[in-house]
Amino acid sequence: MAANDDCIFCKIIAGRLPANVVLDTDDALAFLDIAPLADGHTLLIPKRHFSDLVEMSAESVQRLLRHLPTLAHAVQSATGAAGFNILLANGAVAGQVVNHLHFHIIPRDADDGLGFRWNSKSYADGVAESLRQRIQTGLAD
Ligand code: 5GP
Ligand code: ZN
Repeated sequence: MAANDDCIFCKIIAGRLPANVVLDTDDALAFLDIAPLADGHTLLIPKRHFSDLVEMSAESVQRLLRHLPTLAHAVQSATGAAGFNILLANGAVAGQVVNHLHFHIIPRDADDGLGFRWNSKSYADGVAESLRQRIQTGLAD
């Protein structure tokens, strides 16, 4: 989990690629997304290379996420956005393109055209209970 030579975000951390950095601490970096969904779209990343959330210890996640409330608030204040989405794409199938874990902070306004609608479904009989048990068992392992 040292710096990954092929990783664009590791290069930003190392100063080998430019970025509009808004927060720089001993273990975290936040910078403007190069292709924003909205003005102020910001990425928060750990300075250590983790591919995804599952690779991280609870302590590492905690250290990263402690920045989220103040950072999101600063992004919202600076942009005058009415709200924001926090997004983590975990895995290619979820839309992850850069394999260095990052949280998106996406400023939102009424009628900004971004939308946020997923087609929800309902559980067939017994499925929710079976899933509940499997997840709970996984947590106990
Ligand atoms: P993902 O789809 O992996 O969750 O999102 C990756 C994000 O990183 C995208 O929103 C993309 O615009 C952004 N991105 C990719 N390359 C660069 C870069 O070199 N610099 C910056 N600032 N953002 C990048
Ligand atoms: Zn990296």
